[in-house]
Amino acid sequence: MVVCVDFHAIMYCPLCKAEYRQGVSNCSDCQIPLVHSQEEAAAVPVATVWEGGHRRIFELILQAFGSAGIPSHGAESLERRPSSWIHTFLSVLPIFSAFVKSRPLTHFSVLVLETDLPRAQSALSQFYEARAANTKT
Ligand SMILES: [Zn+2]
Repeated sequence: MVVCVDFHAIMYCPLCKAEYRQGVSNCSDCQIPLVHSQEEAAAVPVATVWEGGHRRIFELILQAFGSAGIPSHGAESLERRPSSWIHTFLSVLPIFSAFVKSRPLTHFSVLVLETDLPRAQSALSQFYEARAANTKT
């Protein structure tokens, strides 16, 4: 077996698939060990454990996973849906067009390694139970 030590190698995060330069062994975002090749990182199954449009809940869930020691990656993207007929219809009307244009939907998703999915799901249900308890009192 030949172990090739390449100090200029780029490392990859198996969760968020980010690239890292030499000297980095853990993903600064996900806090998990990096792997040596893009193929290896791509082969690691990742699951979306939560997605939605609420930034506050998104941040709280990431915090909850952080304190539970579950590596997680939060991604946000602007939804660019192809114009639906209703969107097209509304944007023709001056009253609605401002409303429609001023609300770009941000879509949040929380990714975990598939092997962490059961843990992440139980952490998520605990999170929701705690929130439900808090709103009652
Ligand atoms: Zn990462």
